[in-house]
Amino acid sequence: MRVGIPQGLFYVYYYPLWKTFFTDLGVEVLSTPPSNRKIIDQGIAHAVDETCFPVKVYFGHIAELCQEEMDYLFVPRFVSVERKHYICPKFMGVPDMVRASFTKLPPLLSPLVDLSRTDKHWRKEIMKVGRHFTWRGKKIEQAYQHGMEELERFRQLTRQGYSPPEALLVWEGKKLPLPGKGDLNIGVLGHGYALYDEAISMGLIKRLREMECNVYMVEMIEKSYIESRAATLPKRVFWTLGRKIAGSALYLHQQTDIDGLIYLACFGCGPDSLIGDLVKRNMQDKPYMMLTVDEHSGEAGINTRLEAFCDMLRRRRINSESNLPTYGQLLYSLQGSVEGP
Ligand code: SF4
Repeated sequence: MRVGIPQGLFYVYYYPLWKTFFTDLGVEVLSTPPSNRKIIDQGIAHAVDETCFPVKVYFGHIAELCQEEMDYLFVPRFVSVERKHYICPKFMGVPDMVRASFTKLPPLLSPLVDLSRTDKHWRKEIMKVGRHFTWRGKKIEQAYQHGMEELERFRQLTRQGYSPPEALLVWEGKKLPLPGKGDLNIGVLGHGYALYDEAISMGLIKRLREMECNVYMVEMIEKSYIESRAATLPKRVFWTLGRKIAGSALYLHQQTDIDGLIYLACFGCGPDSLIGDLVKRNMQDKPYMMLTVDEHSGEAGINTRLEAFCDMLRRRRINSESNLPTYGQLLYSLQGSVEGP
């Protein structure tokens, strides 16, 4: 038996769990290579225009996978991965959109991932997936438990400083050194499936490291710090990823050794337009840059903006220019009564 798992959306957060689960049930797992231009173009051809860039890329991975022989395609329907917090509604419709957009598809395995319901419900969903391969309930439970242990091992690697795609390679047994030290400390924010996908983010993290920056990611921050900062917001952010981004931004904002923050947003993303603005309003005295990408973004434009941002941060370290913030508010207020933008 072979199951295909597209390398898009929540792959970057949950692949170790599903890979271990299926492997323990005696199933061969097929996946796609990291996103590239061909995959993006296939995604654009299959997805509806109105959807966001990461969903289009996910469709490209499905088109790529469909060229292989497989018995099932694994496309979970994510609703909630923690109690009373939710995933963007686009995730809920992904299995339906996939069915509507592809004519030749293997049968889909689409468990409903809604952890806001009871544990019993989630257990039933896992069993439903497992029963395609074995009738031994105990074996399915053990495979899931093993998957969760492997997921924790992967998460520990991200806490050590590996980006999630690097942590996946290390988790699979590849030897990778931890990134070297640079002279600037930059926090990067965004949805992981965009930020850590080199084709979507145009290698944002790699480029920053090449520019001698230490990159701080959400996954490296202690969960309790994120939660306590997110709890200070006047209204609860009920999107899981949005809350993590906002809480991490507020936490990084307080750290004096963080020189600046970069938010990678996707064109067409509703949550990004809201969370990005929320973060911006709380970054008055910390340099902050928002980069919005879509399928038409060019590498040169991103590179220029990153270089300019890093140059500005380095110049701010020189005393005479330390009053130059990104948004200009401090500069305006120092000059007199003129209110900044
Ligand atoms: S949160 Fe934004 S980027 Fe993610 S699936 Fe929803 S619309 Fe797309």
